[in-house]
Amino acid sequence: MIPKGVLLYGPPGTGKTMLARAVAGEADVPFFSISASEFVEMIVGVGASRVRDLFEQAKKDAPAIIFIDELDAIGRVRGAGGFSGGNDEREQTLNQILTEMDGFAGTEGVIVIAATNRPEVLDPALLRPGRFDRRVTVAPPDQAGRLKILKVHTRSVPLADDVNLATIASTTPGMVGADLRNLINEAALGAARRGHIEVTREDFTDALEKIVLGAARRIVLSAEDRRRTAYHESGHALLGMLEPGADPVRKVSIIPRGQALGVTFQSPEADRYGYGQSYLRGRIVGALGGQAAEELIYGEITTGAESDLEQATRIARQMVGRWGMSEKIGRVSVLPGPADQRLLFPGMDGASSEHTRELVDQEVKRITDECYTRALKTLRVHREQLDSLAGALLEHETLDEPDAYQAAGIPQPQRAEQPPIPTAGAAVPSLPHIAEPDSVNSARSDQRHGL
Ligand code: ZN
Repeated sequence: MIPKGVLLYGPPGTGKTMLARAVAGEADVPFFSISASEFVEMIVGVGASRVRDLFEQAKKDAPAIIFIDELDAIGRVRGAGGFSGGNDEREQTLNQILTEMDGFAGTEGVIVIAATNRPEVLDPALLRPGRFDRRVTVAPPDQAGRLKILKVHTRSVPLADDVNLATIASTTPGMVGADLRNLINEAALGAARRGHIEVTREDFTDALEKIVLGAARRIVLSAEDRRRTAYHESGHALLGMLEPGADPVRKVSIIPRGQALGVTFQSPEADRYGYGQSYLRGRIVGALGGQAAEELIYGEITTGAESDLEQATRIARQMVGRWGMSEKIGRVSVLPGPADQRLLFPGMDGASSEHTRELVDQEVKRITDECYTRALKTLRVHREQLDSLAGALLEHETLDEPDAYQAAGIPQPQRAEQPPIPTAGAAVPSLPHIAEPDSVNSARSDQRHGL
């Protein structure tokens, strides 16, 4: 049976609108598009009548596709949010859409496609059979998809010979189409500023650095703060180089950016869609490496490691509570998963007992304690390499991958020459079981602030 309604959901910038438009183009049918946010501020009654007109027009021109963007703007769970003023209009508009869809006999040849970034707030009435009962995840593109997107957006950009789009695609996991376009714009701006006639690899590297790490900030650190930051970042970086299976260290810097005094940036060779337990422990060890280095060198730690601790705790908590990686808790899910999983498996919001929650806390503490001990021990054993890396950082402020590994006296990991062969139709991958990337975002920024 042909569906009446299809819901596209995924993070902003993943191209949901483009996808809907492409479907209409491919089917060679008229495309009617509205954004639900337009209705929010309308006078009562106007939204509903616009919806009525829209459906009438589409039926007249059938077969046709109606696209409703930002469905969550009117399709929120009723009664949620607490504002009553705009609610009437929103509700009337929503009701009109539901009435129109329920009125389809199935022979009109009109399909409604809606898009949202926030499927978890939608009113369940929208998801009932006969309404938006087909759900399609629009995930961020994989490496092959990013390469294709980069090719499209650089079509009219003069690229220097040293630019390798496949390499850029491999170092930008998690970026969506809009991010990649922004990256190319930044690189082109940088090229113009430097008087280049073509956009070079350096322009891309600088643009990526600015986007991922933030723009450099001109503040003067005391010699003591610089040295401490150098050791802190070297602790992260050295453990990133030594922990088996850890993502390669791409850049280490003690140039202050945003709130951060220093940054260690790691990214995988290829996209990761699942994480092994030892990899995750390695990530925690690395996250705690800055603090461990400070303890080793200065015998005390500072307030600067706050975001490191948050990151380490977040990973450990998910290992225990979501991914069944603690024997004491066992293979049960006691923490809520990502929003889209809650949508697909309602009722999985995991109300666990107080006893279980205590046990989770204990297990999280055990894992982070073990990882901290490991970080400290490894850095103690490799003290000379730590000193050497920190020394190089103090001298050069920023070290790229080859220089960082050289300063630490560690062979650089083998880089895969050829990226994985693009698979057909990889532009919109649908990956239902991603261990979601937010928990493992590698750029670490180290903030240091008073109490
Ligand atoms: Zn840190």
